[in-house]
Amino acid sequence: MTITLVDTHCHLDFDAFDDDRDEVILRAIAAGVTHMVVPAVDFESMERVLKLAEQYQEVYAAVGLHPNDIPADRDIDETIHTIRQAASHPKVVAIGEIGLDYYWDARPPELQKEWLVRQLDLAADLKLPVILHNREATSDIIKVLTAWIQRAEMQDRPGVLHSFSATWKEAQTILDLGFFVGFTGPITYKKANELRRVAAHTSIDRILLETDAPFLTPHPHRGKRNEPAYVRYVAEKLAEVRGTDLDSICRQTSHNAHRLFGWYVAQ
Ligand SMILES: [Zn+2]
Repeated sequence: MTITLVDTHCHLDFDAFDDDRDEVILRAIAAGVTHMVVPAVDFESMERVLKLAEQYQEVYAAVGLHPNDIPADRDIDETIHTIRQAASHPKVVAIGEIGLDYYWDARPPELQKEWLVRQLDLAADLKLPVILHNREATSDIIKVLTAWIQRAEMQDRPGVLHSFSATWKEAQTILDLGFFVGFTGPITYKKANELRRVAAHTSIDRILLETDAPFLTPHPHRGKRNEPAYVRYVAEKLAEVRGTDLDSICRQTSHNAHRLFGWYVAQ
């Protein structure tokens, strides 16, 4: 039986793929990957991800500004307008990658929150799900998302906490709000016991697979560049952790991705 997979988060537009992007995408397709979602992080990448989505049938785009890349010197209304225009592209399936990142500390938390809220409200306005980045900001992101869910009525498909890394207790709060959680290469790493606990206990209808390529390469390729074909290693580990077979993991997570990104209605 052939398996089908979705890589719900990969940065195929990054220059790590400049020399062999075609081959990388072909390898992914050969490995059963039917859809790849490429989220933008800044203005330049917004243009690049739209171009990629036009070029490859299997590639879809998300547009938005990453917390480390929010412009300190641009008018927020003007910028939201630019993102809104980019989001009207027929292959844009989400607003992302947006969120909070207190690890790199590139922008003050209050500024990050302001941009996150504005981009969340844009997503609700456009009826698009969000792709969320969170690094060392779990309690703040939960606060912002709780308030958003209450005012925006996005309960049916609000979005995904990408490359999920928090405790099972925090995961439960996020799942209660209606969000999906995305698992990446780290679930294959030796020390990631809490993450595997979250992966084992999360309801299967809320789980997405992703690579976050070129980063977070799963075992046994850890240390090298990641690519969408390796999403299979994440699926295999998830099957092992949940005591189920690879085929059912692939089927269910692909179905979840179709539901979140609206591919059932679009095609
Ligand atoms: Zn990312």
